Amino acid sequence: MRDGALGEGGMPVSNGDDVARRIEELRAAIRRYDYHYYVLDDPLVDDAEYDRCMRELAELEAARPDLIAPDSPTQRVSGSPSDAFSKVIHREPMLSLANAFSEGEVRDFDRRVRAALPGEEVEYVCELKIDGLAVSLRYEDGRFVQGATRGDGEQGEDITQNLRTIRVLPLGLPEAVTVEVRGEAYMPKKVFLRVNRERDEAGEPVFANPRNAAAGSLRQLDPRVTARRGLSLWVYAAVFGPGTGKAEALRTHEEVLRWLDALGFPVNPLRRVCRNVEEVLAFLAQGAEMRTKLPYEIDGMVVKVNDLGQQARLGATAKSPRWAVAYKFAAEQAETRLLDIEVSVGRTGVVTPTAVFEPVSLAGTTVSRASLHNEDLIRERDIRIGDVVVVEKAGDIIPEVVRVRTDLRTGGERTFAMPGHCPACGSRLVRLEEEVALRCLNPECPAQIQEGIIHFASRDAMNIEGLGEAIVGQLYREGLVHSVADLYELRREDLMPLERMGEKSADNLLQAIERSKQNSLERLLFGLGIRYIGEKASRILAAHFKTMDRLIEASPEQLLEVPDIGEKMAESIRAYFGQDSARRLVERLREHGVNMAYLGSWETRVESRLSGKTVVLTGTLSSMGRKEAREWVRRLGGNPAESVSRRTDVVIAGENPGSKLEKALQLGIEVMDESAFLAILREAGF
Ligand code: NAD
Repeated sequence: MRDGALGEGGMPVSNGDDVARRIEELRAAIRRYDYHYYVLDDPLVDDAEYDRCMRELAELEAARPDLIAPDSPTQRVSGSPSDAFSKVIHREPMLSLANAFSEGEVRDFDRRVRAALPGEEVEYVCELKIDGLAVSLRYEDGRFVQGATRGDGEQGEDITQNLRTIRVLPLGLPEAVTVEVRGEAYMPKKVFLRVNRERDEAGEPVFANPRNAAAGSLRQLDPRVTARRGLSLWVYAAVFGPGTGKAEALRTHEEVLRWLDALGFPVNPLRRVCRNVEEVLAFLAQGAEMRTKLPYEIDGMVVKVNDLGQQARLGATAKSPRWAVAYKFAAEQAETRLLDIEVSVGRTGVVTPTAVFEPVSLAGTTVSRASLHNEDLIRERDIRIGDVVVVEKAGDIIPEVVRVRTDLRTGGERTFAMPGHCPACGSRLVRLEEEVALRCLNPECPAQIQEGIIHFASRDAMNIEGLGEAIVGQLYREGLVHSVADLYELRREDLMPLERMGEKSADNLLQAIERSKQNSLERLLFGLGIRYIGEKASRILAAHFKTMDRLIEASPEQLLEVPDIGEKMAESIRAYFGQDSARRLVERLREHGVNMAYLGSWETRVESRLSGKTVVLTGTLSSMGRKEAREWVRRLGGNPAESVSRRTDVVIAGENPGSKLEKALQLGIEVMDESAFLAILREAGF
């Protein structure tokens, strides 16, 4: 169990005093969890544990209404605005949503709604519940003037400048309307993985999940940091001021969504108008199936009464509207035994502990390892070797040890301490200022060198097929490869004596190494493993400077002129090429005939989320024609196709999508809208 979590079931509740004490205990715990979650963006416990405490509190308060206090977390929207930003008072409160954790509870919601609207037909709209951060966007006469977080529902934080960096957010509208639009800002899964990988490598604490990453990124004091985080947005509501005429013109929630869509807002196409609760439940089941295939995280679905008149009559409590409910998916969790904690050294010298556990099946795959990131996390969650641990896939992406079953401890568990010396080279490990990670600073550390070579050969870098961990290990131990330049001196007779190396695989490997000489500059740049220079930055730099020499000679000012290249990156490039060893390495690679120029053109296909995927377009895209869109799909490594079938991987749906979208939904195929497609293009550096 993580630090501060309440024991499952809590203390026995036998009489009134115990109930009062338990209620206070739960309220205090929830307030602490809220602070860590909403203010620090660094949750103490997982959502399931939080929701469990909230439920227990609600049940106890229902049994003892005399103990309900207006400031109880069950009665008000949690969260509080931070002092770092100026405050925004919401014209209409931004509420939370009531939860339903089962089909039965969704049916209860439907019964409550219909009981309050006797004799009326009730239609619902089901939407995805995007796991991000609620934002309010104010437009005056069609211009974006202010953006805010939800805060405590009454008052939020002014994050206008940060929101302006979200590219799908329209800064101007085709109609001069005055309206407040509400939606969810989020971090796509792929961006989340990248950001965490970069943070891990830089020795910074990783984000617990895309939601916290999005919240942390939006609540940055420097909008340039937000801009680099690749956030996106879906909007799902509009609040009209009096006299706009809109409130009269739009009668249903679905009409509001269509209107927002027509104004150019990103509105998620994965929604359905349902005539009754059976249709609602059927769509909720589809949503649960779609969940892992979506490029962003959802933690459930939201069911809303469609008719705005009915919504108004149903009204709201202080915490949530009575016309909507959030159906929450169960987290994919499993229990297993922690067998060991292994320590490994990465390419940048960061030493990472990894949990090794008995294999368990989780969200469709078998997992046996999970990164524990750093020592602080092990201490916070009090993870010991031999413990029964709860493993969860954070957003169905990466497995994580979320909690320990302390109640199952036998006393035979062993606490773990990070070694004081590098497990690979024996140098003393150091913790740099402001970093949570321990590092080995020895540039000759064999683990770092080997990891660097593996990175150089990896798919997104020089893409040398067949040069994996095992072979790199052998080449290093045999003294054949000590630097990536040595790869280009390998001969057949060097490879033949290696374990499990046949003639054919030796030739294939040599060919792959030879082929890599033709790569465009960005691959080489990324392969060098310069700190803070990831795949995207490499592509931007290569496209800008065109040749390695021009990049090496670039002044700090010239580097900072490049869009998306920040100070940290610019400094890192200068520091890297300032080293004699780095310049020598580049020279050696050049002598071996490795290409040092940018070869990008329409013919270049880049690696992206669409690589190798069959992609079908439907509807009209506002930013490009059909032919152009197909060309971009091709450049992103995808295969454009005309019709939807089981072999289709992704459907891109524009305006008025038609039957292809219906079919995709039926087959459970991933659907993305124009903004998601544009986001992939941007991520790919186009
Ligand atoms: P919520 O997440 O249950 O639901 C309300 C929010 O859903 C809205 O504010 C909006 O931001 C979002 N949303 C996403 N898609 C939407 C859509 N299509 N339509 C309408 N709204 C949509 O409520 P909350 O008050 O934001 O947060 C409470 C939840 O947060 C808890 O149930 C828990 O899971 C989590 N939490 C966790 C911790 C922790 O320590 N782990 C602490 C606090 C809260």
